[in-house]
Amino acid sequence: MTAPLVDPFHRAVTYLRVSVTDRCDFRCSYCMAEHMTFLPRKELLSLEELDRLCSAFIRLGVRKLRVTGGEPLVRKDIMTFFRAMSRHLDSGALEELTLTTNGSQLRRFARQLAACGVRRVNVSLDTLDAQKFARITRWGRLAQVLDGIDAATEAGLRVKINTVALKGFNEDELFALVEWCGARGFDLTFIEVMPMGEVEGDRLDQFWPLVDLRARLAERWTLVDVPERTGGPARYVRLSETGQRIGFITPLSHNFCESCNRVRLTCTGQLYMCLGQDDDADLRAVLRANPGDDAPLVEAIRRAIARKPKGHDFDYSRSRVRGEVGRHMSVTGG
Ligand code: SAM
Ligand code: SF4
Repeated sequence: MTAPLVDPFHRAVTYLRVSVTDRCDFRCSYCMAEHMTFLPRKELLSLEELDRLCSAFIRLGVRKLRVTGGEPLVRKDIMTFFRAMSRHLDSGALEELTLTTNGSQLRRFARQLAACGVRRVNVSLDTLDAQKFARITRWGRLAQVLDGIDAATEAGLRVKINTVALKGFNEDELFALVEWCGARGFDLTFIEVMPMGEVEGDRLDQFWPLVDLRARLAERWTLVDVPERTGGPARYVRLSETGQRIGFITPLSHNFCESCNRVRLTCTGQLYMCLGQDDDADLRAVLRANPGDDAPLVEAIRRAIARKPKGHDFDYSRSRVRGEVGRHMSVTGG
């Protein structure tokens, strides 16, 4: 019952990303439409159900749990869930409990997160210009996020910044973002914009291939490839002059699915074996049909992992978007 999860391509699944809500206090233009319809609350897994599901994955060998959304820190009582998961850190079953956040609520929660054993947070930040920030997030305030990042640092959390590379939006801030992170000791990862969910505007217009971004970086710094791999999709370089680490997530221009070790659980209990494919498994139905008995749940998880595909099919070549998926990033989490 507890044999590890291995997919048909011999990849061990040791990393679960769980979206705890589809809601958010921002409306980033590449992520959400301005007027989103969110799920009725009864559709969501309760915190107890989230606990039961995540704990089942941890028993099956998941070592790293990333909490995401939507904005995870706007889910009511979310600290109850973090506190519950910290027992798996204490027992040694879980190596890392972490989250991806827009940072708006970190002033309120950073200390509590640290007390739950969270050591690192990923904060999404696409610009350091307050007006541009308001434009891209529609509802966000840069000052609040920067204050949240300060709160995370004060609480002893390591901060990694995630920046979506957007043509015509943050190209001119490339060096400023790198220097800002360097001065604070933050790692920085750039992400190519992915075709997920209907939004206003055209993603192809926004697409800034990271090979171009990398070439721009090389005009100012010496980039040294970092061989170490985290099992994730990012590739890293170190800037020799500053020692800073910069990551690149390039699902479009170059995909690294062959070493994928992760699966994603939505806030309604659908398990997606790949971010870029539509196949899913309804774990909520199994969970609710079998209260008090996890054996059918474990079986359903194993059947799902046996269907994990080799990779995604995102493609912007030939000047049109292909391989897109209908759901928004906020459903499966980034
Ligand atoms: N709200 C949290 C945040 O913004 O960090 C967590 C969820 S958000 C969906 C996770 C990550 O996905 C963010 O870094 C965001 O920039 C990224 N993201 C959202 N839509 C995207 C898209 N279409 N292509 C690439 N990245 C996207
Ligand atoms: Fe919200 Fe994160 Fe999506 Fe922005 S990227 S709308 S902060 S879920």
